[in-house]
Amino acid sequence: MTLYGGMTLSGAASKRKKASSFTHEEATTARPALLLDWYDRHRRRLPWRPLAGERADPYSVWLSEIMLQQTGVKTVGPYFEKFMARWPDVAALGRASLDDVLRMWAGLGYYSRARNLHACAVAVRRDHGGVFPDTEEGLRALPGVGPYTAAAIAAIAFGRRTMPVDGNIERVVSRLFAVEEPLPQAKPLIQQLAATLLGPTRGGDVKSRAGDSAQALMDLGSSICTPKKPACALCPLNDGCAARMRGDQEVFPRKAPKKSGELRCGAAFVVTRGGELLVRTRPEKGLLGGMTEVPNSSWLAAQEDKAALTQAPVLKGVARWHRKAGVVTHVFTHFPLQLIVYTANVPARTRAPEGMRWVAIATLRDEALPNVMRKVIAHGFGE
Ligand code: SF4
Repeated sequence: MTLYGGMTLSGAASKRKKASSFTHEEATTARPALLLDWYDRHRRRLPWRPLAGERADPYSVWLSEIMLQQTGVKTVGPYFEKFMARWPDVAALGRASLDDVLRMWAGLGYYSRARNLHACAVAVRRDHGGVFPDTEEGLRALPGVGPYTAAAIAAIAFGRRTMPVDGNIERVVSRLFAVEEPLPQAKPLIQQLAATLLGPTRGGDVKSRAGDSAQALMDLGSSICTPKKPACALCPLNDGCAARMRGDQEVFPRKAPKKSGELRCGAAFVVTRGGELLVRTRPEKGLLGGMTEVPNSSWLAAQEDKAALTQAPVLKGVARWHRKAGVVTHVFTHFPLQLIVYTANVPARTRAPEGMRWVAIATLRDEALPNVMRKVIAHGFGE
């Protein structure tokens, strides 16, 4: 656990001083209050965030946190509003069908989140009477609620004294303390350091403004301590920030070199029958589980074009496949994918092969189509 040129946290703290009104120790002690004071003046207005002094609704916090995993605030906003309008509480979402939830989620990506969201709503409705558990432990037992989400809901909705650490908080904390250890190994250390930014408990009260402290750090990371060119002059924690003193803020958080997955290749088949498109549903388990797709081949590293084409659906009326120029590329978390797109038109009354179905092109927006399939269809239609 190295900090700031190999010193331990306490060593670094005792040896560093800054030419300012605060000693390092004072700056460190003052941080929780400075952070809350800044938050009270600069907190972002977000659709899921109540006004200052109002209590956060656990359902809104949970829904937004699941949507915000791997997705930005701007993209999430309209989806959050749509979900809240259709399913205003967790019990309503727990009564919805998985298909409806997947359809509403379409376009947001990382679809396992939507399946977990539905499973969690069902569990809260069935096992907890439609009320979220109010402890980190109870929350973690719910489907799709990991340590970060449990801590976020516990702190923000229930005032539990815990610090959820997301990417923004990792950046702020790793700079504040100049954490030299790379991610992901540095996560436990960053978690420990982030907890020092929580305000003290008052008279043994386990509840606190932990939710505000966490949201303050999230806001600080997104608006001031940005990945490039952080606005340190405006930062409430700039006194005693180790990275700022060294002048190398942008190197933090350190990251272990990424191993990118091997490119996988395949083919996709865009078959039309008048105003209809041939589709099928992916298996419930696995990548893009339960989503709609056009027929396509296996996705394999170094798969030859011919081998992918042999996996085309067998349809009466397809004499030959028309290969569209170019390819569709898509990057999943663990691998990039490249698909050749073939098209064909079949006569009216051509039957769909087993396990497939025709859907009206005009109603495609109602299908739970993942982004990769939206790209394939657009490419096949020549858009
Ligand atoms: S002083 Fe700069 S680098 Fe340090 S936490 Fe604030 S914005 Fe980030």
